[in-house]
Amino acid sequence: MTATLIFGGTFDPVHFGHVLSARALGECFDDARVVMVPCQVPPHRSQPAVKARHRLKMLELAVADEPMITVDDCELKREGKSFTFDTLSMYRAQLPDTPLCFVLGNDSWVTLPTWYRWRELINLAHLVVLARPGETVAESDELQDWAAGRLAEPDVISRKAGSVVKLTLEQFDISATNVRKALSEGQSVSDYVPADVINYINENQLYRNTHDRT
Ligand code: ATP
Repeated sequence: MTATLIFGGTFDPVHFGHVLSARALGECFDDARVVMVPCQVPPHRSQPAVKARHRLKMLELAVADEPMITVDDCELKREGKSFTFDTLSMYRAQLPDTPLCFVLGNDSWVTLPTWYRWRELINLAHLVVLARPGETVAESDELQDWAAGRLAEPDVISRKAGSVVKLTLEQFDISATNVRKALSEGQSVSDYVPADVINYINENQLYRNTHDRT
């Protein structure tokens, strides 16, 4: 059965690192469906620089021409903090027999032990960890020990859940932090962000000051 891959993030703003990774995942997992899920109030990091509706719109523009990638605003509609546990529980309830994967970069992976009910996530979905370029992230002993018996090759996703899959896709050395910085300094971001998203940013005058979240 075709797997559903859930790619969560702040997407503040979305950039080619997100879109090209999502596209590569769809190809790597034999026509898997990729769902990008922007979060409203990330529990593990500071607040986004722009309003949720802008992040959602930019994401929709970025994947408009990607047939295997869709956007789900379920976390933006939910009251309060958006926990990955709640999102994966919702998907599992809707898709009881479908292989599910939650995709995260390895910078997010190393923070996993701070997430709400993190040990239970793997009962709901596989965890697919993407290498990101130029990072010096270290796994805690706790995470390493927990993951050790759960690591598997990508073909495990013919099963519903239960494994950690570490993937090295083509690497895109882009971060939203650098995109925001470049925009606030008036520099071009055309190498990092799709053209329709840049137009939206310009039309709505986003990221000129680094904080635009009212
Ligand atoms: P920021 O710089 O604000 O932290 P970001 O660029 O890491 O943002 P997020 O929205 O936090 O973007 O990322 C969502 C998910 O995408 C995370 O799991 C993150 O690790 C992953 N990700 C971000 N950039 C890349 C990239 N260049 N390649 C692969 N994965 C990425």
